[in-house]
Amino acid sequence: MDGGHPSTRALNASGQSNLACSKDEAPTAIYLTIDTEYESGFTAKHGLDSREANFRRSILGETEDGAVGIAYQLDKFDRHGLKAVFFVDPMPALLWGVEAVSDVVGPIISRGHDVQLHLHTEWLALAGAANPLGERVGDNLKQFSLEEQCALIEYARKMLIAAGAPPPVAFRAGNYGANDDTLRALAEFGITHDTSFSPGFDDCACDISLGPDCHAPIRHCGVVEVPVGCIADGVNRTRHAQLTALSKHELLAAIRHARDSEISSFTIVSHSFELLSRDRSEINRILKRRFDRFCAALGRTRNVETAAYSESPPSVASGSAEAEMLPPNKVRTSLRMAEQSVSNLLYEGKKSAAVATGLVAAAATAAVAID
Ligand SMILES: [Zn+2]
Repeated sequence: MDGGHPSTRALNASGQSNLACSKDEAPTAIYLTIDTEYESGFTAKHGLDSREANFRRSILGETEDGAVGIAYQLDKFDRHGLKAVFFVDPMPALLWGVEAVSDVVGPIISRGHDVQLHLHTEWLALAGAANPLGERVGDNLKQFSLEEQCALIEYARKMLIAAGAPPPVAFRAGNYGANDDTLRALAEFGITHDTSFSPGFDDCACDISLGPDCHAPIRHCGVVEVPVGCIADGVNRTRHAQLTALSKHELLAAIRHARDSEISSFTIVSHSFELLSRDRSEINRILKRRFDRFCAALGRTRNVETAAYSESPPSVASGSAEAEMLPPNKVRTSLRMAEQSVSNLLYEGKKSAAVATGLVAAAATAAVAID
């Protein structure tokens, strides 16, 4: 299980390694994790016949101006020599059979990327007689008993394998809504790693009993828990490493910091629909640009390597799990907040064409200034 990347190495008093990364150092492993899922709320609203529309929207990310879902993302990853881990939710098989899942898994596997297990329990409320727990429903795994969680994970694992994926070794709960029983249940099914714990995410539904300072992989309740990456964002504040939450500059700075501190791995989160506006009706061009440029820059970053759980899972740190975070930086934070404000105005609220055009120009100028 620990045959992957070497653990966190000794740091000096300032948190820096005593030696710069040399050619002999193992590269820092970057796990680009893409939660890949149909949207249960869409089908709750539009009915059980909405499978194809849901697939086009949430998996393919189709809009009138083109598609930015998994096919687009796979193209970018391949162009820049990056490997990604797609956490696929098989629960829609309750409604539409295994084909609904194999349509997702097929293209990812055929292009050599990693498929691991994701699970949204919201689908139980739409499953009717197919619900393996009878009348029991709930939005998060942690609402279910250990026995019930075992039944759900067993079903989801079976569907993922039937859809063409290798037996999963890693898991992320939908909405990060796991607890310690989730980890115990995963261990029952040979799933060795969980990455549902996100210490930098304030509104996280996760109830796994680890503290906010746990930032490196650690053994917990029968599995290796791999915290989602985060950065310091001011005194006692953190932000999680998600494409929508951090700018390209922050993501790359966090990766370089992990590398230069000789931290063995860093996990980034995104989604199949991440590059769309919140209502998924149009491409969010700021996020698409961020994704494109991040992929290109990551491909050029020396001494880091994107990794797959199936080939090279994160290993447990030999020392403390309290790995040093990227320290706060006012310039990076201000630029991200400006970019985020423009994004919100353009894609998440009402806008006028004149305001939008001006803001895009301003954002582009700001971004170019620190490229
Ligand atoms: Zn999800």
